[in-house]
Amino acid sequence: MPAALIDGKSLAAGIRDELAAEVSELAARGVRPGLAVVLVGQNAASQVYVRNKRSACEKTGIASFAHDLPESASEEELLSLIKLLNEDPAVHGILVQLPLPRQIDEKRVIRSILPEKDVDGFHPVNVGLLSIGDSCLAPCTAAGVVALIDSTGIEIAGARAAIVGRSNIVGKPAAMMLLARNATVTICHSKTREIAEEIGRSDIVVAAVGKPSFIKGEWIKRGAVVIDVGINRMPDRKLAGDVEFHEASKRAAAITPVPGGVGPMTIAMLLKNTVEAARLKIVR
Ligand code: NAP
Repeated sequence: MPAALIDGKSLAAGIRDELAAEVSELAARGVRPGLAVVLVGQNAASQVYVRNKRSACEKTGIASFAHDLPESASEEELLSLIKLLNEDPAVHGILVQLPLPRQIDEKRVIRSILPEKDVDGFHPVNVGLLSIGDSCLAPCTAAGVVALIDSTGIEIAGARAAIVGRSNIVGKPAAMMLLARNATVTICHSKTREIAEEIGRSDIVVAAVGKPSFIKGEWIKRGAVVIDVGINRMPDRKLAGDVEFHEASKRAAAITPVPGGVGPMTIAMLLKNTVEAARLKIVR
């Protein structure tokens, strides 16, 4: 039987509906969640991501504050803007779209965002909280990955999970989250030997490599859940994931498409973090 398609679009739409209800509830208490989205420069992919994030905010009732700086912006200019946003009570979440132009130190910028406004979950405080299993603002793509796995009904506790890719944005946080859910996690990277064997014994596979068709369909264990995070622009301009979709579909129990899998969930989780940050402001 071919794999069930894990529909990230409709899962994300359901989350956005729940968040819209929560946003109205917060509004009734005098708080409108607000997200500042900062874009530096003209990177074409970043412009698309930022546009999607801003429009998703508006659809959910979250206030969106756009801050576009030129490619030539200095680190000091960006840090001054973040300082203002940190102090602004209408801003509950701050997102600085990566990558940043060369003259700006990404790490310094991430560390300048108040951890309680760090809706991307990249600040070392949030990374630390995630790794010790405390509540935190968790990285959006990784949170989306776990929600997609949950949507299949697979029992994560006790399952073997292989994560291919160890970036701070996707691979590592996804591994920490699955570990917190009691999966037995293997993180694979470019120096890993016998990736095919690692994947072949895994009940859950998360591919975050950035190479089209890197994960071969024949590697997939029968009945596995496969989450494809990869976004690769092909010569025909179409998007493709990191997994050989058709071949993997013949063996997996469930698989995400690209596009329409992880992508929409990343944005839904960003909105969720923003609403959470606004809610925490009331509780404090
Ligand atoms: P990244 O920072 O470039 O990390 C890629 C990872 O893949 C690295 O850990 C690298 O290993 C590993 N890798 C590279 N070649 C490999 C090989 N031959 N065998 C095993 N591992 C290998 O990428 P990223 O930011 O995590 O993103 C990964 C993909 O996800 C990209 O296509 C990106 O566009 C996509 N993405 C999608 C979303 C979404 O919302 N859908 C969000 C974020 C990213 P080393 O560490 O050893 O170099």
